[in-house]
Amino acid sequence: MQRKFQFYIVPTPIGNMEDISLRALDVLKSVDYIACEDTRTTQNLLNKYDIRTKTFAYHKYNEKSKVNEVIWILKSGKTIALVSDAGTPMICDPGSVLLKELKNNNIEVTALPGACAITTFLSQVPRDDEEYTFVGFFPKTDKAGKELIQKYTKTNMVFYESPNRIIDTLKNIKSIRGEVQIALGRELTKMFEEITIDSIDNIMTKYKDGIKGEIVCMIYASDDNDIEIDTKIEKLKNKGFKSKEIATILSELYEVNKNEVYEKVIKH
Ligand code: SAM
Repeated sequence: MQRKFQFYIVPTPIGNMEDISLRALDVLKSVDYIACEDTRTTQNLLNKYDIRTKTFAYHKYNEKSKVNEVIWILKSGKTIALVSDAGTPMICDPGSVLLKELKNNNIEVTALPGACAITTFLSQVPRDDEEYTFVGFFPKTDKAGKELIQKYTKTNMVFYESPNRIIDTLKNIKSIRGEVQIALGRELTKMFEEITIDSIDNIMTKYKDGIKGEIVCMIYASDDNDIEIDTKIEKLKNKGFKSKEIATILSELYEVNKNEVYEKVIKH
């Protein structure tokens, strides 16, 4: 016997249509309505599993105006499942405005576990350190992007990014963090899925002609010395110091190998 709720948050596949749980299918079949980010996208999934439940649109453009209607439906005794186009609702997808109101109205809510690009990605990316920060979509403005890169240097930083912007974003990361390790997941669970874990230089070379598909990316945390050295290289370069001079100064200052610093300087 399953416990009954009034409102279900249901993850849907992020690529492979079979990545949906038996319970999720059961919930989608048994609720009165499915609130969809895009009814046409969800209909493809419902058709595949022969689910005939009524749908309505609930997306970021009508999120505020739809809230009262959703509450009214729930208070009349009906049940609703919320889905987004792909993955877990509320993870860079709509739902937050509604969820607050559901709590205010004491509606019984539950979330099902399931497909999500972050967890699919992180569960196959080796890390020395369990800690990570997920920042959602990488900011669109240059300034906000640079601030974020500077903010999270000592923790693994995970973000979603569009294929059109990832190369510029990597260039920004490179200019601030220098030679850093990157993990890049593309088209996860789909035919051309791939995970690349490499230095930022190699990743930029690999994708020099562009990159297609959906992307999740992680900048590995750097150790304190590396971050300090990278920041100082940038500063000394801007002040007009020559590469050899920078290598000499920083290797003395941080008691590290001069040639290694020199390599860093010329790659910067
Ligand atoms: N709610 C979704 C989740 O649970 O992951 C995320 C929705 S967000 C609007 C869409 C972004 O998630 C894409 O632009 C991409 O960055 C990432 N994403 C979604 N599916 C992916 C996949 N199959 N492979 C890699 N990244 C994916």
